[in-house]
Amino acid sequence: MADYVGAIDQGTTSTRFMIFDHAGNEVSKHQLEHEQIMPRPGWVEHNPVEIWERSTSVVQTALNSALLQPSDLAAMGVTNQRETTVVWNRKTGRPYYNAIVWQDTRTDKIASALDRDGRGDVIREKAGLPPATYFSGGKIQWILENVPGARADADSGDALFGNTDSWLLWNLTGGPDGGVHVTDVTNASRTMLMNLETLDWDDELLGFFDIPRQMLPQIRPSSDPSGYGVTSKSLAYGGIPLTGDLGDQQAAMFGQVCFAPGEAKNTYGTGNFLLLNTGTELVRSKNGLLTTVCYQFGTDAPVYALEGSIAVTGSAVQWLRDQLGIIAGAAEVESLARRVDDNGGVYFVPAFSGLFAPYWRSDARGAIVGLSRYNSNAHIARATLEAICYQSRDVSEAMEADSGVHVEVLKVDGGVTANNLCMQMQADILGVPVSRPIVAETTALGAAYAAGLAAGFWKNTDELRENWNESHRWTPEWTEEQRTAAYAGWKKAVTRSLDWVD
Ligand code: ADP
Repeated sequence: MADYVGAIDQGTTSTRFMIFDHAGNEVSKHQLEHEQIMPRPGWVEHNPVEIWERSTSVVQTALNSALLQPSDLAAMGVTNQRETTVVWNRKTGRPYYNAIVWQDTRTDKIASALDRDGRGDVIREKAGLPPATYFSGGKIQWILENVPGARADADSGDALFGNTDSWLLWNLTGGPDGGVHVTDVTNASRTMLMNLETLDWDDELLGFFDIPRQMLPQIRPSSDPSGYGVTSKSLAYGGIPLTGDLGDQQAAMFGQVCFAPGEAKNTYGTGNFLLLNTGTELVRSKNGLLTTVCYQFGTDAPVYALEGSIAVTGSAVQWLRDQLGIIAGAAEVESLARRVDDNGGVYFVPAFSGLFAPYWRSDARGAIVGLSRYNSNAHIARATLEAICYQSRDVSEAMEADSGVHVEVLKVDGGVTANNLCMQMQADILGVPVSRPIVAETTALGAAYAAGLAAGFWKNTDELRENWNESHRWTPEWTEEQRTAAYAGWKKAVTRSLDWVD
């Protein structure tokens, strides 16, 4: 009897494999970073071969270090950075080009053209997304138009598209020797190519990007009792059933057990992603949020979510470290920011990839405003942490306006939640308590839950709910006047960022 479930979390900066027991406790984990390739301003790429090699290596190492056999795992799930686009050859397994990462803005002309001739509204209606560089459709089009041979091979069926979930599942199940070419509804809902109601690729949308249907993966449930396949016998960990696949933010919804309509979580990583479960109802946003699939269990009706995606939050902290050099490591931002009591009038709008939700302005640019001679590094550090929280407030206001749901307690997770000051600021800026669970690795946990539910390792979502426990809660300390005045300053700073490019 297998006592554990494993999950690969293929993230933007690293890939980890985690093994959990029935109570949702972490049993083993291994993690490796991969290279961030930035050949030009606005371009962000990953090497898909490196990602596959790191992924298979973390699985092997995590199993070995816990002295476990593949047969100790009842199932394995995959969760991934969404939208990041890989096109590869089905016969050789070789990618045509590096993976084009979700943050990459090279497709801005493709995206803005869609909004000039009415196609953008069709995408909003059918796919639930505003046309933007963020999503996969334009990235696939770019590869087909710019990489010699890719278009011809896509037409003949030899070139395959996938987000990194599909790329890993194909390689895990044998690659050129019988690899399965699948994705799940949540990943497919981030391409601008899937119809949210039929849950199938939509010919009209495919036509907008000139993408041949045969290059696309089969769309499957996120938690699938019939499974996508088993890990290939050619791997050291062959024979493990693959039964869960979902985008990282949707996986975090699973890990935070947001299974009921009205439940929400905010993940603080490279970017921030606030999602609200809207049940089987498809809520269309009037306030700059995305409508997306939250998950689908087997043949059940899909559950939808409203999502506010913020491009730059934790990565602004990386920018303080790598570009400004004012901190040596991400954790140091907290002690630097604590040297001052407030932001000293400084606001930082980190619009490095334009602004995503709720603004969706690819022409926005980063801005630091309100500086005087008095200000120091510490104010910049503080403004960076506040920017994470103000952007989350922008999104949470949009969510309330769209859904009428007022979130009473915000469930949080992700790397930035290690920062106590930032989480206290979030409670102050939102005016609601902020709560972090004991297992902060909700993404990997959620993918393990999806896989384990499908495999019968867990009976139902009630069992998963019992596994969720709070580790820390931050309660608001600011007065209402402080909150209102501070937020007004942020809104003014955002206008500077939006007005920068004529
Ligand atoms: P992802 O899954 O997107 O790769 P993680 O959840 O691993 O992200 O979080 C990594 C991000 O968190 C990085 O951008 C890093 O700058 C940020 N981060 C990590 N620790 C801290 C900290 N103590 N304070 C603020 N930001 C932090």
